[in-house]
Amino acid sequence: MDLFEHEARDVFERYGVPVPRGLVADTPESAREAAASIGGTVVVKAQVKTGGRGKAGGIKLASTPDEAFAAASAILGMDIKGHTVHKVLVTEASEIAEEYYISFLLDRANRTFIAMASATGGMEIEEMADSITRMPASAFDASAVFSPEIADQVNAVASALWKVFVSEDATLVEVNPLALTKSGKILALDGKVTLDDNASFRHSRTDSGAEGDPLEVRAAEKGLNYVKLDGTVGVIGNGAGLVMSTLDVVALAGAAPANFLDIGGGASAQVMADGLDVILSDPSVRSVFVNVFGGITACDAVANGIVQALGLLGDRADKPLVVRLDGNNAEAGHRILDEARHPLITVAHTMDDAAGRAAALAGAGAGKES
Ligand code: GDP
Ligand code: MN
Repeated sequence: MDLFEHEARDVFERYGVPVPRGLVADTPESAREAAASIGGTVVVKAQVKTGGRGKAGGIKLASTPDEAFAAASAILGMDIKGHTVHKVLVTEASEIAEEYYISFLLDRANRTFIAMASATGGMEIEEMADSITRMPASAFDASAVFSPEIADQVNAVASALWKVFVSEDATLVEVNPLALTKSGKILALDGKVTLDDNASFRHSRTDSGAEGDPLEVRAAEKGLNYVKLDGTVGVIGNGAGLVMSTLDVVALAGAAPANFLDIGGGASAQVMADGLDVILSDPSVRSVFVNVFGGITACDAVANGIVQALGLLGDRADKPLVVRLDGNNAEAGHRILDEARHPLITVAHTMDDAAGRAAALAGAGAGKES
């Protein structure tokens, strides 16, 4: 799980990493208030989980609260590389003398932790690849990269960042830029923290989740592995690989998938209902392709799950479903679906056939108009 910049900033502050004062705002009005309470010139920064916000126009300096209001009006709602901006971070502006780069990360290939540092920072990591010095995290030494005047300060910041890394179970802690201000102070101006989800049970974390896409948030609350896409054919499958292939066959059939949803191996009726509920709440969905390969959970159990799910959803199920079942107990599964005679269900026997039908149903605008 990646943290938002403002969350990384707060974590840094708790561990003694020097950061500028900052407040989060989700409206232009609250950005103005934040700027007034911070005082002086501020930076208004789009909160999205992607880099290159500066270049995209997602970072603006504002010298008065009214300018902060205007900057937030421009940034909120902006799309940056497919991420919608729902919040801004308003920080005290720093006078930057120099920009550096520093990170700690898990080096999977070598099964160890490394530190990376560069005296030229602020740009995208790819652009500074040549200037980066790598060293074992346990042997970080700022004087290998930075001038003697600031090496001690950078070492202190680095040890605080390493504390963040270890104590929070991170796989990446990155500061870009690490700034040297005109007054000679080292400050973390932008932070990226990736937490190891496998260790989340050790922390009382609230997942900041999916940047507010309401369907993704709802799916995450139900523990579903769902990603919103922008097509019209809803997709449910069991197993990430099968779902990926399903997206491909839907595209080959000339339609665009509306989502990725992997309900996993043990698809109970409740999980199927939860998944269908999320997909059917997506107003752009016009048909749904349920693609299941029976394994440990056999096709008859899945078929029962689908029928029960439609029962649980009642009137909320209002779009046609094309179901393809294969694998363990497929025939029994087909029998259950046939016997249910549900008006919304079409059974298809191959992935291609199912994709073609789902695409046609979506293209024909089948299902209730709303
Ligand atoms: P990113 O583009 O998403 O990586 O966002 P950053 O937070 O790294 O900001 C991009 C650039 O904006 C930085 O490299 C700085 O040059 C500039 N910037 C950020 N904060 C400040 C600030 O407090 N003062 C000034 N003058 N520039 C800033
Ligand atoms: Mn940055």
